[in-house]
This record gives sequence, C-alpha cells and structure tokens, in this order.
Amino acid sequence: MYVKKENSDFTLNTVIYLRLALITFFLFFSFKAYSSSPNFNTISKAFDHFEELSAKDPSLALEAATKMMTEQGSTLSQENKTTLLAKIAQYNYFLGNVTQGIAAIEQAYALNPDFNSDTGLLLLITHGALLLSKGELEQTMPLYAKAEKIAIATENTKRLAEVYSYIAGYYSILHDDIQALKYFHQSYVLVEQLNNELEMMYLKSQMTGAYSNIHDNENAIKLGNEALSYFIEREFYFDALYVQSELANSYLNIKDYNKAKIAFENVIIFSKKTLSEASIPIANFGLAEVYFALEDYDKSREYLQIFHETRPAEVLTFTRVNYLVLEAKLAITDNNLVLAQEKISEVEATLDTLDKNATLSWKVKVLSIKAKIAYLNKDYESAYLFERESKELHNTYQNTQRETIRSKFKILFDTDQTRLQNKILARDKLLDKAALKSAEQEKWIQYLIILFTLALTCFLIFLVRRQVKTSKYLNKLANTDALTGLANRRFTFKYAENKLITCKNHNSPFAVVVFDIDHFKIVNDTYGHAGGDIALINIAKIANEYVREQDILGRIGGEEFLLVLPKTTAKKARMVAQRIRAAIDDNDFLINELHVKITASFGVSELSNPEHSFNHLFQDADDALYQAKALGRNRVEVAK
Ligand code: GH3
Ligand code: MG
Ligand code: MG
Repeated sequence: MYVKKENSDFTLNTVIYLRLALITFFLFFSFKAYSSSPNFNTISKAFDHFEELSAKDPSLALEAATKMMTEQGSTLSQENKTTLLAKIAQYNYFLGNVTQGIAAIEQAYALNPDFNSDTGLLLLITHGALLLSKGELEQTMPLYAKAEKIAIATENTKRLAEVYSYIAGYYSILHDDIQALKYFHQSYVLVEQLNNELEMMYLKSQMTGAYSNIHDNENAIKLGNEALSYFIEREFYFDALYVQSELANSYLNIKDYNKAKIAFENVIIFSKKTLSEASIPIANFGLAEVYFALEDYDKSREYLQIFHETRPAEVLTFTRVNYLVLEAKLAITDNNLVLAQEKISEVEATLDTLDKNATLSWKVKVLSIKAKIAYLNKDYESAYLFERESKELHNTYQNTQRETIRSKFKILFDTDQTRLQNKILARDKLLDKAALKSAEQEKWIQYLIILFTLALTCFLIFLVRRQVKTSKYLNKLANTDALTGLANRRFTFKYAENKLITCKNHNSPFAVVVFDIDHFKIVNDTYGHAGGDIALINIAKIANEYVREQDILGRIGGEEFLLVLPKTTAKKARMVAQRIRAAIDDNDFLINELHVKITASFGVSELSNPEHSFNHLFQDADDALYQAKALGRNRVEVAK
C-alpha cells in the first residue's frame, strides 16, 4: 500500500517532467498542412507540395523549400519569395532550428511583407513561435495578438485558428493548461467550421496533453487515441510520436501501467522511424517508471540505465529530480538505505532552488520516502513525523488540484458558450446574407416587373397604333377608288346624304354636279384600256382642284363623277362645273406619247324641295347630264 501510494505521486511528477521535455520539441508541431490559396500556377503547386511533405516530415519540406530558394530565389516575385521564406521559417521552427528560423523571418521582413496577407500572418505567427522557443516570452504575445487582430479583420479563419492554437501552445509552456485548453477549443471550433480533418487531429493531439495535465485523463485518452489512429493510418509518425507520448502520460496518470508500457514502447518505435532521438530517453525513463510500478525492479533499473545512456548530459532540473527520486526508491527496494538517503538529500537540495508551489507534489513524495527510510532504520518517531507532514502537504496539494479541476469545468462551460455563440453568429450571418440576397432579388424582381410593364405598354401602344393605322388604311381602302384615289361611290353617296341632312337642318342650299366623259369608249378603243385609265386619273386630278374643304368629289361609275357641294346654290354649282369643264377641255392629255383632247358633260341640280331626298337630287342632276349629252356634249346643264 505504502509503496503504491508513493508511486501515484511519483507518477504525477513524471508527467510534468515528460511534458516539459516533450512540449518544447513537439508543441507546435501542427498547422503544417495549411495550403496556400490555390491559384494553380507552378509556384503555388510547389508550395502545396511542401505542405504535403511537411505533414510527413518537415525536414523534407525544409530541404525542398531551401532548394527552391537557392535555385529560383532570384527569379521569384517579391511576394512568392516572401511566402517561401515564411515557409522556410516555419519548417525550421517545426524542426527546432530557432536560429535559422529567425534568419528566414528577418529576410522576409526585409522584403516589406504585407501583414494583412496570408503570408504576413504566417510570418507573424511563426516569428512569435520562434521567439517563444528562444524563451523570449514577452515578445511572443504581442505578435500573436497582432496576428489575431489581422486574421479577424481579414476574415482569414484558417490563420485565426492557427493563432489560437499557438496562443494555446504559449499557455501550455507557461503550464497554464486551463488557458491553453480555452484557446485550443477556440481554435478547434474554427477548424471544425473549416472542416479540416487534419487540423482537427493536430488540435486533438495537443488537447490530449493539456487534458492530461489537468487530470482529465478520460478526455485526454479519448482525444489522443482518435488522433493517434488517424496519424498512424496516414504514416504521420512525427504527429503519432507526439500524441503517443501524451497518451503514455495519461495511462501513467490512471495507473494503467500495461497500456503505458505499450505506449512508451511505441514512442521508441516512432522515434526511430522519424529519427527523433530526443524522445527516446523520455520513453526509457517512462518504462523505468512503469516497471517500478509493476514491481519489476530489475527491469526498472535496466531502463533507468538505458535512460542515463541515452539522455543528454545537461538535463532539466525536473528531470534530475525525477530520476533521483526513482533511484532513491530503487535503493530502498535494494535495502541500500544510505544510498536512498543520499539521493533524497540531493533531491531536497535541488527542490530548494525551485518555486515552492511547483514542488509541492515532489515534497509530498520526498517526505514519504524519508518516512520509509526512517521506518526501515527503526527511527519510528521521525517516520511518524515525516509521514504526518507528507499527509498534510498532500492535502494542500490535493486542494490545489481540486481548484485546477474546478477550473476545468469552467473552460468546458466557456468553450460551450463560445461554440454556441459561434453557431449563433454563423446562423445570424447566414440569415443576414439570406435577407440581403432576398432584398436584392426583390429589387431585381421589381426592376424586371417595371421593365416588363414598360415593354408590354410599348408593345400594346405599337399594336394599337398599328391597328388604328390598319383600320384607317382599311377604311380608306373601303372608301376610296383605287384608280383615281377619289372617294368611291358608296362613300360619296353616304357623305352626300349626311351633308344634305345638315344643310336641310340649317336651311342651307345644297347642290350636286354629275359629269361623265364624252365618248370615252373611243378613248378606250383608240388608246387601249390603260390609255383610258390615264385619262381617268388626269380628269380626277383636274376636277379635284376645284373642290373646297366641305365639298367632296367621288368617282361613282366607270367614267362618271359626282361633286357634292354643301351650302352651294345651283348657280354657284354651275360656275364650278363650267370651270371644271373648261379645264378638262383646255387640257392636253398625253396618252401613249400622243396629245389627246377629251371633254366631259355636266349635269347640275340644287335641292329645291326640302322633302326631296338625295336620290331625287341625284336623279335631277343625272337628267341634266343626259340633257347635256343630248345637246351636243362638253357642256353644263342645270336641272329645271
Ligand atoms: P357618251 O359620250 O355617251 O358617254 O359615250 P361613251 O362612249 O362615254 O359611253 P358609254 O357609257 O357607252 O361608254 C363608257 C365606257 O367607259 C365603257 C367602258 O369600257 C369604259 N369604262 C368604264 N370604266 C372604265 C375604266 O375604269 N377604265 C377604262 N379605261 N374604261 C372604262
Ligand atoms: Mg357613261
Ligand atoms: Mg361617257
């Protein structure tokens, strides 16, 4: 029991130690696969290829990008050169080459990059991350904050997600896992919106570490395994290595030593595959811990030995404390109490140089080991005192942990709120867009209706005008004599009848003149029917010149004409008839290039009896015409 309890505290410290070492190497091993905007030229294809390489192994991407810079650097556009440098900086950063990374950033800055562009954002983020790797914490946040502002303003969701993930990484380094998780979640929400599965997996693997740190092992293991199988399936062993290390920690946390053992063994396998030696000592130490917990002390010693052989000469203080504690515990199992005490004294000296709050759990464990040594030395009083002190410290430590766990629920709550707000925002945005679209559509529909109405109106006007024109034309056609253009018989008679009624109503005089071409048959016979038509057209023209506005001249038969003269006496009508007769008589008709003389005879009548109809009047005029013919033609006769 005693040893087991010791071991649980020991496990917590190992986790912190492992994370410290891992975090610096792997923390930002993400967002590698963001491809540049696809403008399908060879350069952007090359950039996409680098991103693909980087997802597999950033050293391959760096190699390809550096080659491109040496071979084509001078021919590249300023913009492409800046992007290439930003990528080189990023790959160097992934590989932990801080100096080379910063050098690339400085070269890119010298090209006056546009910070509002995607490349500009990549530069700011990578610069921040590189400075963080150098330990220049104060300079990192302003760069991330600037990048966040620009990413929001330029609606670059991909880079905004990246900024949040990097800010989360920043907090992870500061051991503020609560803040880290907040930002990881913020990033995750965005990446989920973008439907970027790879990024989702990167974030899951990073959240595995953060959840493991706040003892939410359930979440850590769930997310970690999701990411792990995704990476293994795609042979992304760098990422698999990182998440596998985090999972190993979580299994240690929940004391599932068998799974922890497999996980650490996998870390060694993945390290060899990726040639990342840095994780091997960590995994060996993890295995030493696992075997100790499984009470296989020989194996534990064996792995501790391998750890010492593989670890760098200079190790982090926490690492030193961890292996000293394990060595002390192993010495106790060997009954070598002097060595155990030596190791513990060394631990205590080291812990004294560290921040008190950060060493709480170690102190609990150190006191426990000291109690055990005192007990084995039969110094029961000291054993009791150490044990009591250890218990008290353990309570303090647990209270701190409880606080951490409480905060965890706060993040989850905050995260849910963020998620909800994002969903609402996205929905509002969609609604706004839809409203705008429908307003635009409505406007268009209104325009279309107006246009259509206008077109229809124009068409109707056109149709009406054409109809009026047609009916006018048809009317004219119906009322006109086609050969002479004069009114035809039907229209002339109708007009005359109407005018007669008006004149009767006004007691005005009313006269008509009927005339007929003399010996027209001869004209026809001599000059042909066409020649006769020429004569008819000319006579109509001559007679029409004597027609006043209220008068009408019509062709009422083959070569017979009727002149209707409202408000005109027989005397006046006779004068008109005489003038027309004389004009015809004087006219030289040119038919078939021959000069022809033509005459006509006229009959005039005036309304003398108001009882008489137009037919009477016409008959009188026709009789007078007959008279004129009889009296030798080419003359005017007035009805008696
Ligand atoms: P009169 O002096 O007695 O009137 O003699 P006339 O020859 O004019 O008499 P009549 O009425 O017998 O002949 C009229 C001729 O007019 C007969 C016909 O062939 C001709 N005529 C009728 N309509 C047309 C027409 O539209 N064009 C031509 N060229 N001739 C026509
Ligand atoms: Mg006739
Ligand atoms: Mg005639």
